[in-house]
Amino acid sequence: MPDIAAANWKVSDAARRLHQDALVWDNHAGFGPDPSVDLEILEAWRAAGVDYLSVNVGYDVISWQQTVKNIGAFLTWFEKHPDRFTLIRRSEDILAAKREGKLAIAFDLEGMNALDGESYMVSFFYRLGVRQMLFAYNRSNLAGGGCHDEDPGLTAFGRRVVEEMNRVGMLVDCSHTGYRTTMDVMNAAAAPVIFSHSNPKALHKHGRNILDEQIRACARTGGVVGINGIGLFLPDRHASTKSMVDCICYVADMIGTDHVGIGLDYTPESLDSLLEMNPLFWPPSEGYGQGGLMRIADPNQLPEITDKLMDRGWAEADIRKLLGGNFLRVASAVWK
Ligand SMILES: [Zn+2]
Repeated sequence: MPDIAAANWKVSDAARRLHQDALVWDNHAGFGPDPSVDLEILEAWRAAGVDYLSVNVGYDVISWQQTVKNIGAFLTWFEKHPDRFTLIRRSEDILAAKREGKLAIAFDLEGMNALDGESYMVSFFYRLGVRQMLFAYNRSNLAGGGCHDEDPGLTAFGRRVVEEMNRVGMLVDCSHTGYRTTMDVMNAAAAPVIFSHSNPKALHKHGRNILDEQIRACARTGGVVGINGIGLFLPDRHASTKSMVDCICYVADMIGTDHVGIGLDYTPESLDSLLEMNPLFWPPSEGYGQGGLMRIADPNQLPEITDKLMDRGWAEADIRKLLGGNFLRVASAVWK
């Protein structure tokens, strides 16, 4: 397990105080969704002072039936562990959970295979706690193009899903999705669109990273780009705090501090064997497998990010927006 102890990070008292007081929002956890996952691993985020975490319950690699089973298993686990964790429905619930020292959780879906071709499934998943969904997980699907595949653009089905997500109040997410589809989505959406966990391609050329044009289009919708902590997608494969902060500042300099956040994609487990079993979803040519993800920035690194941003002259109010205020603003506007 990488540097999990908070003591490993050099952080000033001022940065630690700000981190404790601010709402800390991590917009994506990276562990593989499966009924057998022991969700006690979430204590790593809670102990690190994260207040809200979006937990993945399904992605295009698995069947929609498997996704439903994951949700069943996860709901049951949360019902049995109400002391430290709470499944939230609305953005106000997150602030209440923070006051009680609990980690607030909502679910996300990575890819639209979970809908099995039916836009009415958006409402079904929303009622089960899913608050954001992205289009295509690396490979193209019925809704649109994946970032590691031929991209036909947003399909007629994808367009119906965007309308339905806007109606229901589910956050529209463009991470993992092909360039053309993301641009179509951001044109079609009637509410802010996010990239939950995507880094600027200008700082590190990788198929999972996004162009300046996509970053600007996201800001025009009122949305937020969450900076990803996986070494493979960062300028520095050790996922150093400097490299995270470089990505944060690059996006903030381009579109302003109202439109950048954090989506670490952290997991304490090694994903190598999973990635190697599915080369279509994780092409080895893009560096996946055999340790290719490199280190992942862990939640205990967040106070050091705060510290480095203070060093770079960021105002406290802007750091609060980055840590959670921006994603809270968007969720408050979109969730119903
Ligand atoms: Zn992801």
